[in-house]
Amino acid sequence: MDDRLFRDTMGKFSTGVTVITTKHDGKVHGMTANAFMSVSLNPKLVVISIGENARCLNKIRESGQFGVNILAEDQQEHSMIFAGQKKGEIDIEFGTLAGVPVLPGALAQISCEVVSSYVEGDHTLFIGKVQDILLEEKEPLLFYSGKYYSLQTVV
Ligand code: FAD
Repeated sequence: MDDRLFRDTMGKFSTGVTVITTKHDGKVHGMTANAFMSVSLNPKLVVISIGENARCLNKIRESGQFGVNILAEDQQEHSMIFAGQKKGEIDIEFGTLAGVPVLPGALAQISCEVVSSYVEGDHTLFIGKVQDILLEEKEPLLFYSGKYYSLQTVV
C-alpha cells in the first residue's frame, strides 16, 4: 500500500494535540504528538506512540517518565515549536508535576511513570501510569488533515 494513502487516511482522524515532555541529563525535552489515548481507569493508564527517529524516544526510555500536555487553542505556536516546524532560540518555561516536567498554559498537564513499552513497527508505545493531573478550563487546539483548528472554526 502507498504510504501517502495511509498517512492521508490516518490524518482524517481528528485529534487534539499534546506536547510530550521528559527530563534527561538535567534538560527538559518536548515533542509534539497526537498519538495519545486513555487506556485504563483502574489503574489509570495512558499510551503514547513515539517514532523511532524521534530524539525523545531514548530520553523517555532512560528517564522512565513523561508528561502529556494537552494543548489549549492558543498554543499552536507551541505545537509548531515542539514539532521542529519553528526553529531558533526559543526559551520555554516548564513547570513540574509529581517530579515530571510539564508545560504551563496547557489545558491539561498529566505526569506519568512508564510501566511498559512495546516496539511496534517503526514506533514505540509507552504505557504511562498517571501520577498527577492539573486540569484548567480552556478550549482545545485541534488537528485534522494536517491543519490546526479550534472549536470556534469547527462548529
Ligand atoms: P526534536 O526534533 O529534538 O525536538 C522537536 C523540536 O522541539 C525542536 O525544534 C527542538 O528545538 C524543540 N525543543 C525540544 N525541547 C525544547 C526545549 N526544552 N525548549 C525549546 N525548544 C525545545 N511524532 C511521533 O513520534 N508521534 C506522534 O504522535 C506525533 N504526532 C504529531 C502530531 C502533530 C500535530 C505534529 C505536527 C507532529 C507530530 N509528530 C509525532 C512529529 C514530531 O513532533 C516531530 O517529528 C518531532 O520533531 C520529533 O521530535 P524529536 O524528539 O526528534 O525532537
